[in-house]
Amino acid sequence: MNISELARILRISPQELKNLLPEFGFSVGKKAIKVDNNTAKKIIRDWPRLRREWENKKIDEEKQKAIEDLPKEKKIIEVPKSVSVRDYADLAGIPINRVLTELMKNGVFASINEKIDFDTAMIVGENLNLEVKEADNTLDEDDKEEKKLENILSKEEEGNLEERPPVIVVMGHVDHGKTRLLDTIRSTDVIGGEAGGITQHIGAYQINRKNNKLTFIDTPGHEAFTAMRSRGAKVADIAILVVAADDGVKQQTVEAFQIIKAANIPYLVAINKIDKEAADVNRVKQELSTELNIIPEDWGGKTICSNISALEKEGIEEMLDMILLLSETESGSLHANPNTKAAGTVIESNVDKAVGPLATILVQNGTLRVGDQLCFNGVIYGKVKSLKNYNGEEITEAGPSMPAKVLGLKIAPSIGDILTVGDGEKVKANKIKSRNNRNSAMYNTSSEEVADSDISKFNIIIKADFLGSAEAIEESLMKLNNEKVKVKILSKGLGYITEGDVKRAEDSEAQILGFNVKTPPAVETQIREKQITVKTFSVIYDLIKYAKEQMQLLIKPEINRIDLGSLKVLAIFRTENDNQIVGGKVVDGVARNNSFVEVIRDDNFIALGKITQLQSAKQDVKEVEKGVECGIKFEGKPVIEEGDILKFYQEEKIIGKL
Ligand code: GDP
Repeated sequence: MNISELARILRISPQELKNLLPEFGFSVGKKAIKVDNNTAKKIIRDWPRLRREWENKKIDEEKQKAIEDLPKEKKIIEVPKSVSVRDYADLAGIPINRVLTELMKNGVFASINEKIDFDTAMIVGENLNLEVKEADNTLDEDDKEEKKLENILSKEEEGNLEERPPVIVVMGHVDHGKTRLLDTIRSTDVIGGEAGGITQHIGAYQINRKNNKLTFIDTPGHEAFTAMRSRGAKVADIAILVVAADDGVKQQTVEAFQIIKAANIPYLVAINKIDKEAADVNRVKQELSTELNIIPEDWGGKTICSNISALEKEGIEEMLDMILLLSETESGSLHANPNTKAAGTVIESNVDKAVGPLATILVQNGTLRVGDQLCFNGVIYGKVKSLKNYNGEEITEAGPSMPAKVLGLKIAPSIGDILTVGDGEKVKANKIKSRNNRNSAMYNTSSEEVADSDISKFNIIIKADFLGSAEAIEESLMKLNNEKVKVKILSKGLGYITEGDVKRAEDSEAQILGFNVKTPPAVETQIREKQITVKTFSVIYDLIKYAKEQMQLLIKPEINRIDLGSLKVLAIFRTENDNQIVGGKVVDGVARNNSFVEVIRDDNFIALGKITQLQSAKQDVKEVEKGVECGIKFEGKPVIEEGDILKFYQEEKIIGKL
């Protein structure tokens, strides 16, 4: 009998069976594909006992292994406020899988690159023979990153420093005109350009203003800014808080302002859409004062408020002058050393199907050049093959405050990652590690991540109107995770659904779930072309319900055997190469057409096949009951003999519930 056939009867994998046979005292070669029928019979007969022994042994081994993996004596480890599973395992000196299992037991379905907080680390540690202490003064990874850039800048000698353009970010509530303002400032129709595919969006651009350069971060919404801030990178020197004159202070205005305040950078308020009939600048100022404690200059406060119409290009010149003023008076020294190796921050990152990973770097110190080696977190990601500026033109170098699109990366970095330039040593494949992309795409999965590949995953990208809702959604989704299916959030961000989101969704076969966000028409075209599933919701409950339905579809069914009955073979009517027609009497239960058939002789399994035709009184029937004679067509190896017992069963797919 074929080993695979025997394995199927025993309901274990052929490989497991092969491994087991010697343990049970049956010697078979490693490459054997058959066992003799006597051996097979014996194994089938003894299987209930053998299985028990085997399972007990397995449990013992696992228990033993689980203990061996752990430190012999309680080990004290110090972990930061948050730590990736990988780093935790490294610190503890315990295999990652062991840590993952323990996390799962505690309802945490983390992947190796995901971070766990200190409390989780401590609870899990108890069962891993660890005493987990919070590391004193230990910088969280992200803080280290921030310090890296600060260190680079602080080590520069004053004599080497030169002035650099200010970097400006535009923030505010959706629809208040951020895109239009950036567009007007650039004096290029960004919205029209997007549809026509002329304007290059690389995440930032520069303009010249009275012999000064100004760099604008060109990603409307708070997403990029928040992402960069939360990774500890400081990119913007000045913020413009846009508030529509006809709409006033809204939820995202408040949130944008909190972000600006936390970043501790100078800002001005652009009161936009003053061309509109419903515009009421005074009302906006009133709301700014009462809700945000922003007192406009002309009301005796400190905050510059520029009345503008991004649409009619009104007040823009004056506003830009105010920005220059702010950069001179408030930003302090905006300096960098252009004559050194580049350091900067990733402000956009995606994977292009044709050219591979692409990232926009805002250079913050030094000069980035073609040929430079790109390192993030001390890991080599590739070499600059080409650099493009915000006009899509090839350039050979990018100096301080200049954004440049970089080609030549082996993997996509995350938004907010700090770039440093290496000294050119060769890229070693094993040095390119998978990293946690907290706010951006997760493009690369390392082989270790395959560990939980048995669990189906619902890959999603979340876009929401404000941080609170994104977090509430994430929290609710995480509660749906179980051992059969898991939600994998590849990125979560605020604001419009962007081209980057669509690319990311395409690369990782993810769906985009939006909450109170819009999709610009140009992006909508892409979504259609790439056939990405994008769903937007205005009620969190509906979003969660949809996610639940999708997860339900991903649950792999379990196969359950249902025994139907048996028949005693009384006559063989016809035997062909791959089928037999036999007659017999149902001795137990029923015989049912299209069911599986086990051929049993003297209590021993002989072969497996299927009934493809069932006749009673010369009529095709679906089922025949106990005591009735019938004829069946058996598809399978034609081994049936008179006197054999045919056992019928069906397999039922059981779809687990969430
Ligand atoms: P964002 O969501 O903040 O980026 O807003 P958009 O720039 O996409 O603008 C939202 C809508 O307001 C668009 O239809 C713009 O054309 C319109 N808009 C932007 N600025 C002005 C303005 O100054 N006046 C008027 N009347 N409409 C504007």
